[in-house]
Amino acid sequence: MRIVVDRTKCSSIGLCEATAPDIFEIGPDGALNILMDDVPADRRIDLEQACENCPTQALSIEG
Ligand code: SF4
Repeated sequence: MRIVVDRTKCSSIGLCEATAPDIFEIGPDGALNILMDDVPADRRIDLEQACENCPTQALSIEG
């Protein structure tokens, strides 16, 4: 499972990082980094929550 970020929408607010800090990280440059290329299936709930909570709807799940 992969998380896809629409960087034209992400405004680096960081709610996704608050939801799953081992998957999402706002870097020192203010850009969102995805820390896991292949997210295990048992983390789907965390990803769904991050997608729902993102205020700019910049996140989507692939796979
Ligand atoms: S919650 Fe959405 S807008 Fe905020 S950093 Fe994450 S992807 Fe970007």
